[in-house]
Amino acid sequence: MSKQDKPKSCWDHFSARQLKEMQKITDRYIRFLSTCKTERETVNWVMADAKKHGFSEDFSKNTIIRQFRGKTVLLARKGRRPLREGLRLLGAHADTPRLDLKQHPLYEDCEVGLAKTHYYGGIRKYQWLARPLALHGVAVKNNGKQINICIGESENDPVFAIADLLPHLAAKQAGQKLSDAFDAEKLNLALGHAPAAKDKKDADKADKRIKKQVLDLLHKRYKIEEKDLYSAELQAVPAGSARPVGLDGSLIGGYGQDDRACVFAGLEALYRASQPEYTQILIFWDKEEIGSDGATGAQSRFFEYTLEDILDAWEPKTKFRHVMAVTKAVSADVHAPIDPDYQELHDKLNSSLLGYGPVFCKFTGHRGKYSASEADAEYVAWFRGILDAKKIPWQMAELGKVDIGGGGTVAKHLAIYGMNIIDFGPGVLSMHSPFELTSRADIYASVLAYEAFFNN
Ligand code: MN
Ligand code: MN
Repeated sequence: MSKQDKPKSCWDHFSARQLKEMQKITDRYIRFLSTCKTERETVNWVMADAKKHGFSEDFSKNTIIRQFRGKTVLLARKGRRPLREGLRLLGAHADTPRLDLKQHPLYEDCEVGLAKTHYYGGIRKYQWLARPLALHGVAVKNNGKQINICIGESENDPVFAIADLLPHLAAKQAGQKLSDAFDAEKLNLALGHAPAAKDKKDADKADKRIKKQVLDLLHKRYKIEEKDLYSAELQAVPAGSARPVGLDGSLIGGYGQDDRACVFAGLEALYRASQPEYTQILIFWDKEEIGSDGATGAQSRFFEYTLEDILDAWEPKTKFRHVMAVTKAVSADVHAPIDPDYQELHDKLNSSLLGYGPVFCKFTGHRGKYSASEADAEYVAWFRGILDAKKIPWQMAELGKVDIGGGGTVAKHLAIYGMNIIDFGPGVLSMHSPFELTSRADIYASVLAYEAFFNN
């Protein structure tokens, strides 16, 4: 057994050169997190960035990219070996928990202009109250014109907020169960307050002047009307940039690190891993947080159909199913390291620590491993072997104590093809909150680990 088999702190392990490189890469990561707050923004960013790195939508080339509906994207780089010997595939998800605006969002009440929301993914509702929120998304006119919306990120922009109950009147709420205390229908976003000027001719509009003012301002900025909101996809997300956290700035705080940490690390790794032996595929899905369903989630046919097109272009006689059976894959998703305040929820022997590198999760699921995808011993052994050979720190852990909870990832939706796959990614504290925390060292170690995987 090599020395790398024992978990070790990346901070002690990395050389001075590596620590310097870590700083540079994670500063870029902070800018990426601050720019990409929705799946569409992430896919747009990946498309533009990958094209700068030579990826083309022309499948006759060797480094290719294809997006679908602006919400999922696949990148591929041809390897020296034929596709029938399998792929090195890494998948992450670009969607994050948030508050979507309902299709009939706007109303006014008690002199406040408000928007109704419908939460997306596993949020703890109270975390979204009393904090600055921005609106990101798209509106589409019925003539097909698409309008990108982003309000609340630039310095001169207003932000939005959901008011919380004052403690003086919260006596009854304080005694309620957490699951009862916060009502999804009370997650209403304050959008305005001052009324539009009185319209003497139109009596109908006289009593909804705050809503009218909100609509007037939206029209002034984006030329959209109320009916355009019926089809719009607008997301309320935490406003502001991701930032270094701690006096030493060694932690990174920001929204959406589950799973944009792996999106970023996967992309960095793919750029670094050139001249591959096996064909490398990187894919970012949507809808993971709500079960990977729909046209752009990991259960969709996007991956399969795109792979068939790649086979047609590169190796027409090879069958998709034969490629799948010998493919090695990573479900690049974040893990839950021990939270210093909630240590009792982890089995210490089978838990991970912030700053000790990316974490293998041999299986996901809940209770008696229900709904789990579990990686084979042979595959886990192969994988730890390539990391140890490269002296890259890694950890092996479960999400928490047995029967405490659990979770799922995209792994099981890929495992059905017969490929080898395991969950592997950096730890995130405060997961699914508006301000998640990661270690710079884990982000960098994940880049190195994914690069080693792609190259092997
Ligand atoms: Mn995730
Ligand atoms: Mn998640």
